[in-house]
Formats: sequence, C-alpha cells, structure tokens
Amino acid sequence: MSTLEIKDLHVSVTTEDGAKEILRGVTLTINSGETHAIMGPNGSGKSTLAYSIAGHPKYTITSGTVTLDGEDVLAMSVDERARAGVFLAMQYPVEVPGVSMSNFLRTAKTAVDGEAPKLRTWVKDMKQAMENLRMDPSFAERNVNEGFSGGEKKRHEILQMELLRPKFAVLDETDSGLDVDALRVVSEGVNRAKEATGSGVLLITHYTRILRYIRPDFVHVFVDGRIAEEGGPELAERLEAEGYDRFLTPAQG
Ligand code: ADP
Ligand code: MG
Ligand code: MG
Repeated sequence: MSTLEIKDLHVSVTTEDGAKEILRGVTLTINSGETHAIMGPNGSGKSTLAYSIAGHPKYTITSGTVTLDGEDVLAMSVDERARAGVFLAMQYPVEVPGVSMSNFLRTAKTAVDGEAPKLRTWVKDMKQAMENLRMDPSFAERNVNEGFSGGEKKRHEILQMELLRPKFAVLDETDSGLDVDALRVVSEGVNRAKEATGSGVLLITHYTRILRYIRPDFVHVFVDGRIAEEGGPELAERLEAEGYDRFLTPAQG
C-alpha cells in the first residue's frame, strides 16, 4: 500500500505582472486503490495542481509538501517522480515530432522501470493495450500526437498509463472532448490499469459524466485554488444538479 500526501500546498506562477498565487493551501491524501475526483470550474487551479505534482518547472511551490510514502516528491526531478510511480495524463498532450509512439512508449517504460522491457513481451503488451483502447496498430509508427485528434491524444495518454503501471495516476480532464464511445473506451482503460496495479487515481474533471464510468471513492470540489468541499460520490450528483455557483458566491446570511 502506498500513500500520496499533499499538505497545505501553495503554488505560484510568474506572470508579466509578477508572481500570482494559484494554489492556496491544498491538502489531500490518496491511498493505493482509491479514486479521488477533483471537480471545479475552469481557472480554479486544477491543472496547476496536476503540474505541481508532476514537477512542471513553470510552477513555483511557495509552501507545503507532497510526499510519496514519506519521500519528498517536491525534491525529485520530473524523471525521478515518474520512476517513483507518479504519472500525469495531461489535459493538452504535447506533440513530439520525429519520435514514433512505439519508441516513445518503450523509452518511457525503460526509464520508469530502470531496464528495457523484454522485446517479445513488450510488443505483445503494446499490441494488446492498443487493441483494448481501440487504437489502430498503425498508430505505433506515427509520431507522438502529431496530427492526432483530441480523442486519439487522450487514448494515447491512457495507453501510457496501461503500459507504465504507475502507483499514482493524475488524469487531467482526460474526458474533455471525448464522444460517448471514446469516453467509455478510455474509462475502461483507466479501470483496467487501476485494477492491474492497484493504482491510486486523481481524476480531475469539469463534468460528472466520466464518473458514471470511473466511480470515485471521494469527491473534492475545487474552487479558487483550494478544496471547498469534500464528500463521497453523492457530492458529484449534487454538483450535477446544482452546478458550482453555490461555491463561487459566499453564502449570505
Ligand atoms: P483549471 O485547470 O482549473 O482550469 P489552471 O490551473 O489551468 O485551472 O489555471 C488556474 C489559474 O492560473 C488561471 O487563472 C490561469 O490563467 C492561471 N495560470 C495557470 N498556469 C499559468 C501560467 N503558466 N502562467 C500564467 N497564469 C497561469
Ligand atoms: Mg495555507
Ligand atoms: Mg485545467
């Protein structure tokens, strides 16, 4: 059993007008096998939280801690975080011109495991994972994300999760831009990877729709850089009915 623990995390970005605080004290503990949904309006800082956990250099941690089984994640390089078992599926996956998907995945797998995967099993595993995600085999030789549709990029993110077997996966709006069929395929991929490895999942989303396929154990409402309310799956249903308005305006009287 592993634990990813975020404590009173404050994060700033540097803008033209100076440093701007985006995360204002986020505290969250995720154990292996648990699924936590973070739901919040656009601009509330959800991606900033994801990037801060993964180690994006643009975000400055001003205070607070992130630990994985007591180890200081914030002191690790991006590569070390990946090797420690932290995975991020990005909201806007980047194109990697000149690098084929199969090369990219094998390099990532080698980096995360500390040794190259055995070629025969690797080819088999990759084919199987692609088939599971209904990806055409020809994608293996295409450059990473180059000319991929939004849905194809999201499938590729989850393909990485299936093959890399992270301890903790942060999925940043993996549902956005997917039609119903793609949403189901991608969700099944997440559930499969989760079951195979017992991963903890931090599922960031703007909509409740994906939560019908990936059942959260806990729901956190994220507003203005911090968690405004927490509960079980029933909280997502309330959000669907009521929206975020209630959290945006302080209650009067
Ligand atoms: P969300 O993912 O919830 O939509 P983000 O974390 O992307 O929110 O953004 C939160 C706030 O931080 C927004 O106001 C956004 O403009 C600002 N922000 C995020 N990243 C940067 C950046 N690299 N430079 C400047 N401002 C940023
Ligand atoms: Mg604080
Ligand atoms: Mg975002």
